[in-house]
Amino acid sequence: MKSLCVMRRASYAIRDAHYALRTGTKKTPRETRGPKYLAPQFIAGSARTKMPDKFMSEDFLLQNKTTRILYHEHAEKMPIYDYHCHLPAKQIADDHRFDNLTQAWLYGDHYKWRAMRTNGVPERYITGCAGDYEKFEKWAQTVPYCLRNPLYHWTHLELKRYFGIKDKLLGPDTAKDIYKACSEMLRTPDFSVRNILGKMNVKLICTTEDPLDSLEHHKKLRQDGFQVKVHTAWRPDRAMGVEEVGDLNKWIDALGRACDMQIQDYGSYLEALRKRHAYFHENGCRLSDHGLETAYSEDYTEKEIEKIFDKIRAGQALDAAERLKFKSAMMIEFAEMDCESGWVQQLHLGALRNNNTRLFEALGPDIGCDSIGDFEIARPLSRFLDRLDCKGKLPKTILYNLNPRDSDLVAAMIGNFQDGVAAGKMQYGSAWWFLDQKDGIEEQIRVLSNMGLLSRFVGMLTDSRSFLSYPRHEYFRRILCNILGSDVEAGLLPNDLDLLGKMVEDICFNNAKNYFPMELD
Ligand SMILES: [Zn+2]
Repeated sequence: MKSLCVMRRASYAIRDAHYALRTGTKKTPRETRGPKYLAPQFIAGSARTKMPDKFMSEDFLLQNKTTRILYHEHAEKMPIYDYHCHLPAKQIADDHRFDNLTQAWLYGDHYKWRAMRTNGVPERYITGCAGDYEKFEKWAQTVPYCLRNPLYHWTHLELKRYFGIKDKLLGPDTAKDIYKACSEMLRTPDFSVRNILGKMNVKLICTTEDPLDSLEHHKKLRQDGFQVKVHTAWRPDRAMGVEEVGDLNKWIDALGRACDMQIQDYGSYLEALRKRHAYFHENGCRLSDHGLETAYSEDYTEKEIEKIFDKIRAGQALDAAERLKFKSAMMIEFAEMDCESGWVQQLHLGALRNNNTRLFEALGPDIGCDSIGDFEIARPLSRFLDRLDCKGKLPKTILYNLNPRDSDLVAAMIGNFQDGVAAGKMQYGSAWWFLDQKDGIEEQIRVLSNMGLLSRFVGMLTDSRSFLSYPRHEYFRRILCNILGSDVEAGLLPNDLDLLGKMVEDICFNNAKNYFPMELD
């Protein structure tokens, strides 16, 4: 392999010499064409990790003049309204400071963990007991192999936007310098997590909490008068976790303690959940989030659910039909609570979770072993939304699909239940998780444009556990502007930059601000 590299390098040198003789220029063909044509494996040492000129320039992802005007004059200045993420509220309340880049970047980021495993990195350096710098080194070794994975763009965008690292690519040669420079910055007050959010012009974020959460950190944040609004979102997945009856019972016991009541039957279970829902509302919650394989909507009677609940409390496992009925009942109850309280509900549909038993047993959920499922979506989703609509109990709803197969059907579904009460009441949510990349974002925008009103879209969210993920909004905005600007240049949209600029600003921020019932000021 090594000798092959040497031979190829030599052949480049001979070719360059011929080129110079032929053209009379001292520049080699590689220099004339620009650095993006260089094959990285043939560049010696640190030159390999130098940021080439065009890569991530200020016009990154913006392919023509109109596109650039839309981004630089309209999208770029808009604040961020991050209505769904998984940031730890405690770290915001404590105004946490990270000691190093590994803590800020690699702790908890299962996208990176998955890439590292794929690159052959042993678990010890991913979630194991290796030191922070050792883990970072393994990540830095992985990054050059992430070319064309969104992680490659995100990584360099984050290094640029937060740390001002503009001229280096992350790789083994630059790992030490980048780690040192970023870690030093992270230890300064300027890089406390609240200041990180402020730097990114974030106006509001919604974290995601279990109904048992005390919300003490959200309370503290409100008392502190932190200028970024931090709301919680109600995520009651565990309340219907009927696959593990033992765990569910423990959760129900804890719910009883939180509400200071005995939960012996289904009626008291619902009463306790309503109490927690009201408690979340008192503490500023205005939206829910559900991680579901599909929108459960089996037929059931109240009596059946009462019996199933008694079975759960007796510690008896449920059969498949009982599990579906119970989840279907809970979904309706939760949606009705949301509707009565004027909340927005979000359904994240289609993840096949915890596929790897060995890693699940060692590390638990959310560690990078989830993937795309192929559950039936259309009919159950239609039944679920229709049931609520018939009762006049359908809240504002955002639907996200994980399987790209379902994009058109979900985008088409929302049109069935728009009711003229609020513009864009039913939303087709932004590209999520495995679809949160350039192709997926473009596809979501294309599908929503064809089936609905893109102009009414509430836009991007980070869905991230990392404070360094905010450039994902920039990434989305550049792609959005590129699509609209390219349509103008192709004559598909009018060259009316007031009209289009307003549309861009609305999708970036104004639509979300008007859609969600949270106050900004
Ligand atoms: Zn999420």
